[in-house]
This record gives sequence, C-alpha cells and structure tokens, in this order.
Amino acid sequence: MKKVILIKYGELTTKKDNRNFFIKILKKNIFDKLSSFSFEIKDDYYRMFIYPKEEDIDSILDVLKNIFGIHEINVCLMSEDLSIENIKEISLSLMKEKEGTFKVETNRSDKSYPIKSMDMSRDVGAHILKNTNLKVDVHSPLTKLNIEIRHEAVYIYENSVKGLGGYPVSTLGRALLMLSGGIDSPVAGYLTIKRGVELYYLYFESRPHTSIEARNKVIALARKLEKYNSNGKLIVVNFTKIQETIYKNLDTDYLITIMRRMMYRIAERLARKNKCLAIVNGESIGQVASQTLSSILSVNNVTTFPILRPLCSFDKLDIIEISKKIDTYDISILPYEDCCTIFVPKHPVINPNLKHILEEESKFDFNELLDEAVNNIEIIDLKEKDNYSDLL
Ligand code: ATP
Ligand code: MG
Repeated sequence: MKKVILIKYGELTTKKDNRNFFIKILKKNIFDKLSSFSFEIKDDYYRMFIYPKEEDIDSILDVLKNIFGIHEINVCLMSEDLSIENIKEISLSLMKEKEGTFKVETNRSDKSYPIKSMDMSRDVGAHILKNTNLKVDVHSPLTKLNIEIRHEAVYIYENSVKGLGGYPVSTLGRALLMLSGGIDSPVAGYLTIKRGVELYYLYFESRPHTSIEARNKVIALARKLEKYNSNGKLIVVNFTKIQETIYKNLDTDYLITIMRRMMYRIAERLARKNKCLAIVNGESIGQVASQTLSSILSVNNVTTFPILRPLCSFDKLDIIEISKKIDTYDISILPYEDCCTIFVPKHPVINPNLKHILEEESKFDFNELLDEAVNNIEIIDLKEKDNYSDLL
C-alpha cells in the first residue's frame, strides 16, 4: 500500500476539445512548481495521480493548494490488490479513528471489475458499521469515503482538500499587469492568473520622487504573485521625465488624467513587444477621481488594446480580504509612496474634457518621451533574491 495524491481538474471539464491541452499545461505547471521534489505523474482525461515520496506529501500539498486548474486534492491509499477483502481493510483503517456519520461512494473506471459500484459501497459500508461506532448518513455525512477502482489499482480516500480552481496558468495567453505598490493591482493580477492568463508585470517609477523602497515593495509583490504565476518578469519604466514635464507645463488638475494616458500608451507598446494580449490594472469604479467612468473613458481613449479591470465592481473591503488571503496586504500597506501619490493635484478632475486634454497634450512632444521611456526599461528577474526582499 502506498500514499498517492489524486487531483481532480474542476472547470477543465467544460473544455471538451481543448481538454488534453489544458491537462498537458497543468502537468507542466505542477512539474515546474514541484521541481525540488522527486515524483512521478500519471494522468488521464479525468484525474491526475502524483506518486511522491511519503515524507514529501505535506510539503507537496502546500504547493498544490496554490496551483490554478486544480479543483480538488486527495491523499489516497493505493493498493494493487483489488480484492474486496483488501479494500474493506484499507477502508476500515481510514475510518477507525473517525466519529459521527459517514457514507461510502465507489467509482469504477474499470468496468470489467466484477463487483458493481453500489454493491462495493454497501459491502464496505457494512464492514465499517460493524467495526466502528460510526453511523451512515447518505445525505450529509461528516466523512465521505471514496473508493476508486481502476485497472491498475484501487485508490481509497476520505474527504478532500479544495484546490484553487480556475485554469492552469498560461493556457489562455499572457497579459501585462500594471503593478503599483498598492492593495488593488496585486489582487487584480491574482484574479487574472486564476483565469489561466500568465502575467508580466509593469511598474512606473519616478526616482528620485519615489524611493528604492517603493520599487522593492513592487518587487516583493511580484514575487508573491509568482507563487501562482509562471516565469513572470518585472518591467520597470523610468517615468520621471514624463511626470515632471506634465507637472511643470500642463494644467495640474489634469495631471493624473494625462499621466495615466501616458502610462496606457507605454503599457500598450510594451504589451505588444512582449506578446501580451491584454493589459490588466487594479481600477475599481469610483474608488478615486481617476476611476470614475468618465475618467476611465478619457484615459482609455488612447488605446484600442484590451484593458482588463478584474476589480471594477469590487468593494474595497472585498479586495482587502483577497489581498490578505494571497499574502500581499502586509506589503501593500507599507508606507513608501508610488509615483501617483507624489504628484497629486489639489482638485483632480472627475469629468475630464477630452478637447481640453488634447489641447494640453499638444503642448509637448510626448512621443519622443514615450520612445525614450520604452527604450530604457529595466527588467528585473524575479527569481533572483536581493537584499531588500528579506526586509519585506
Ligand atoms: P493600487 O492599490 O493598485 O495602487 P489605486 O487604488 O492606488 O490602485 P490608482 O493609483 O488610481 O489606484 O491606480 C489604478 C491602477 O493603475 C493601479 O491599480 C495599477 O494597476 C495602475 N498603476 C497605478 N500606479 C502605477 C505605477 N506606478 N506602476 C504601475 N501601475 C500603476
Ligand atoms: Mg496606487
């Protein structure tokens, strides 16, 4: 008898024709995330089995709980002895310490197995009833004992750990996340990864107006997201010149609107360069002046590229709850300012006028500045540890 981890795929079940593709990527993602362990994987259309060393099981489970595309994780006892006596004994060994109610459910993928599923459940159930104080409850049992009979072996497990759901990362292309040091954008990133989209990260910095700590905060956030993502990189744009030019020369009430238009323009160029199919940000309708619908309209107007806003309808408290769950909250609330908070106008417009925006923008040759910013990006490797990330 051996301990084996059984994985159920969840929403992949709806992807009929592409299913094998999704399973293949899921398997690759699992190998990537578990590269420090030695184990084997077998998979079919419905299930994946991981055969680990017994002492690694708990650590492997911790990793699997953070991999998208997994709906359910079960640690099973596996035996190649398919006799009913053996199945009864293994089942009893799992149920001996339990209390309350139970139910047995059998699934035979090997239809040539001589005992029908219902009969197997009934016989094993009777054996458990006879040898424990447990009671049967077929509707809402405290413990559900599952028996899966397959051609090569029987797998027996009780209850299960819920996986994260969603789709395996990178089954649905790549997007560029505008990642600031705040609470919202990491959550927007997490929700996007959940839908199978691989992320690259984009950070606009305005040194010396923003500090190295602000940058390190973003690096630390990106690293947190890397727990779910695969092979992301952080692109840092030097935004100082653009921001200073806008600040010195243009209508300050429009500073944020125009600055965000510049960000979108740069984001689109970098997204195209990096084969990203969309830009993602943490905007939430109404949260601040630049997130009214009319502000979003005036900013979005610079691009036809898809901009995803996974948080558009979220309340701040719900966003905070997710950020705590994914462990980004404590980093996000560190005080270092990002470039938007430094150049905050006294009266930011909440209904920007497009004609006025265009007049303001015509006062300087922004394309030259955009080219310069795009040509002078810095790429940060998220795998390498630096001195600062330990501080966070
Ligand atoms: P967050 O909590 O994510 O910082 P926010 O509530 O502070 O968001 P804004 O400052 O208006 O809102 O920014 C809206 C979105 O624009 C952010 O969620 C992020 O996606 C993007 N953004 C803002 N500043 C930057 C930056 N310096 N670098 C990259 N993206 C940014
Ligand atoms: Mg912010």
